[in-house]
Amino acid sequence: MKVDIKTKAEIDRMRVACRMSAEVRDLAAAACRPGVTTLEIDRVVRDYCQKNKVKPSFLGYGGFPGALCVSVNDEVIHGIPSNRMIMPGDIVKTDVGVNTLGFNGDTSRTVMVGVSDPEVIRLVETTKKCLAAGIAACGPGVHLGDVGYAIQKVAEDAGFGVVRDWIGHGVGRDVHEDPEVPNYGKPGTKLVLRPGMTIAIEPMITLGDQKTYVDSSNKWTVVTCDHGMAAHFEHTVAITDDGCEVLTVPADYP
Ligand code: MG
Repeated sequence: MKVDIKTKAEIDRMRVACRMSAEVRDLAAAACRPGVTTLEIDRVVRDYCQKNKVKPSFLGYGGFPGALCVSVNDEVIHGIPSNRMIMPGDIVKTDVGVNTLGFNGDTSRTVMVGVSDPEVIRLVETTKKCLAAGIAACGPGVHLGDVGYAIQKVAEDAGFGVVRDWIGHGVGRDVHEDPEVPNYGKPGTKLVLRPGMTIAIEPMITLGDQKTYVDSSNKWTVVTCDHGMAAHFEHTVAITDDGCEVLTVPADYP
């Protein structure tokens, strides 16, 4: 395992990529309305990247055909933009990154489109809390097992499943770098975080069972085996001298 430690100047460049990733994530999320296809969400991302002269990090990555991953309901991650129409009651995950100045951001949020089911609302709110708990746990000297434990505890205390098959990761020059960042773990185990490390923390939480499979028709999309709803939030975070900084926030973030 080779964990890249970024210099302050490199983090400055990465901050730009991450702020733009956050902006386009929120534009994509705002476009998720009933009757809109996921391909139209992809168009929002392509237009933003073209206008700002940056590259969508995921387009062509490992052969991925979309400018973002857009995953609906039981699709956890790696949904491919298509003619699928968003319907009332859907939850849509817009997972996107921007590449500029040699660096990538990686961020995701779950949008509720006219959702009234209280359990689904609770799932989405809990997943957001899982990400917040993971971020709150981050800092120099902290083990990745501490971060995973913090996320897992929030999810399981609420009665939800934590996806084990897919996890967070380092991010920087490459979309996926070392280390692996699981959303579960034992305190005091795994890698010790150091200033200059940049990681994508991305809890994937399920209403029912946490087991997943990859859709054999497109070899990408990760779906829950029981076809229960899954939620996903993700931020790119830099470890600092006294804690951490969430990089995937818009430029006007307070
Ligand atoms: Mg990621």
